Amino acid sequence: MGGVAGVMLYEPDGTGMGISTMLGQPRAQQVAELADQVQEWAVEALCAATMPAVWPECPAHPNAHPLAPVVLHGQAVWSCPRDGVTVALIGELAATLTTAADRRVEAEGGERRSARKRKRQPTRD
Ligand SMILES: [Zn+2]
Repeated sequence: MGGVAGVMLYEPDGTGMGISTMLGQPRAQQVAELADQVQEWAVEALCAATMPAVWPECPAHPNAHPLAPVVLHGQAVWSCPRDGVTVALIGELAATLTTAADRRVEAEGGERRSARKRKRQPTRD
């Protein structure tokens, strides 16, 4: 099988960039290749919008480096380029990070609530 499959990514101002992958390759390889091109586009778009151009940000090393799309054991994953840790399957990063952030908020909220209770009770009584 030969040929190329591609799509265009557009920014709100109408500028676009084409991304593509060769057909006939393993699916994970195609996904990683496309993620690499989406990353390039996203970083340029963030840069143009004068926002921090690290995307997707490594959750283990904030403000240090983006995650790298790699093929590992036949799956396309986002991996930390520094320590090689797999963070999420490509396509599931948002869910992974949201879950982690929710857990953090819950833990912090719980601590704050109990601290507040302890402070308030003597003053109310
Ligand atoms: Zn990292």
